[in-house]
Amino acid sequence: MQIKGGGGYFDNRVYEVEPAVAWQIAILCVAEMGVEVAKRDDEMHLIEGTMNKKIFEVCVQTMDSTTCQLVVDCRKKVIQVYNWKPGDKEVNEFYDKFEHKLKEFAAFILCPHCKAKISSSAKFCPECGIAIK
Ligand SMILES: [Zn+2]
Repeated sequence: MQIKGGGGYFDNRVYEVEPAVAWQIAILCVAEMGVEVAKRDDEMHLIEGTMNKKIFEVCVQTMDSTTCQLVVDCRKKVIQVYNWKPGDKEVNEFYDKFEHKLKEFAAFILCPHCKAKISSSAKFCPECGIAIK
């Protein structure tokens, strides 16, 4: 799901990976991106910081022992009128990094449409045919 507007960008994706592993990968990604971390909560799996003068938040939510949902929220401090841009470079950069590192763990993702378990490098879901970005 993606919500655009408010001068920010919000995206969440589900990954078939242990939440603790996803959390470690998320920390690595945030560090590589140069996010200035203001708050890190290892229990809640939540990172809050700033990047390019925007608020940048990452949360790893446990769904079960082998599945988690990543929520990335990047927005300006002052909420602005809706700007319908196709994406946010910081959010996309985060997911690019995250998915690249996940491949090194040979992990799978869940198809956002049919929830089939598919390769994290797949361009299309082999089950339902939906394009995976
Ligand atoms: Zn599918």
